[in-house]
Amino acid sequence: MLKGKVAVITGGTRGIGFSTAEMFLKNGAKVAVLGSRKETVDAALEKLKAADPSYEVIGMYPDLSDYGAVEKAFAQVKDAFGKIDILINNAGISAREPIEAYDPDAFKKIMDLNVTAVFNGCKAAVPYLKEAGGGSIINTSSMVSLNGQPSGVGYPASKFAVNGLTKSLARELGKYNIRVNAVAPGVTRTDMVAALPEEMVARVSAPIPLGRVGEPEEVASCFLFLASDMASYVSGTILSVDGANIV
Ligand code: NAD
Repeated sequence: MLKGKVAVITGGTRGIGFSTAEMFLKNGAKVAVLGSRKETVDAALEKLKAADPSYEVIGMYPDLSDYGAVEKAFAQVKDAFGKIDILINNAGISAREPIEAYDPDAFKKIMDLNVTAVFNGCKAAVPYLKEAGGGSIINTSSMVSLNGQPSGVGYPASKFAVNGLTKSLARELGKYNIRVNAVAPGVTRTDMVAALPEEMVARVSAPIPLGRVGEPEEVASCFLFLASDMASYVSGTILSVDGANIV
């Protein structure tokens, strides 16, 4: 589905981002995985290459909240693969403190990665996507971007902002054949969920209409659809991938 395409995936070293990198490579894309540290990026590249040595994948670890660093990383992707067609803004962090205990620095940290880094990625990618004749940007939102959450206000606030960036840039960039969408996962079995005792996962799963948490691959397949020509007329959409979970 992505033969000949070049994709940049932030937060691609584990969880949803890693599954997306794997699925994009399987579907013929060349992939640049961006993570936070050399060791985790190297480990992810090793794992992907072990799955198939013919995969064309590179890795970097720029500070995503620093526009200059992101710009430099994207120039390296262009040098390595000749172009950029797809950007997946996926790196993200969360926190659950109530407002009175919420450290203002922690709020800023969440905004730096979940919002500013998404802006930086979009801004740095646009010249390349225009040069390629169009492209696809997909941001990672969350189910909490619909109704918020009762504690940890920074995280839902950041994901509301991601939706705003997505819808606005879809309207701004459509004229360049650049589609901008977001995927809004529900509870997904990444490292954090996998580390929970099974009975706790069962408790979390109980109110979910589909009766279980999602798997990273089930989110990755939505990224794949939105990145591919199958979604050629889809832009400005926030695609829920949450088993109909209403929180
Ligand atoms: P994860 O913690 O398993 O992986 C996060 C990724 O982001 C890692 O690759 C990590 O290296 C990267 N990252 C973290 N800080 C970074 C930084 N400062 N610079 C660069 N990269 C950094 O997370 P996940 O659960 O796979 O989440 C991925 C995205 O999905 C996030 O945006 C998250 O908010 C969103 N999401 C996850 C869930 C869930 O239940 N797992 C639900 C809704 C939304």
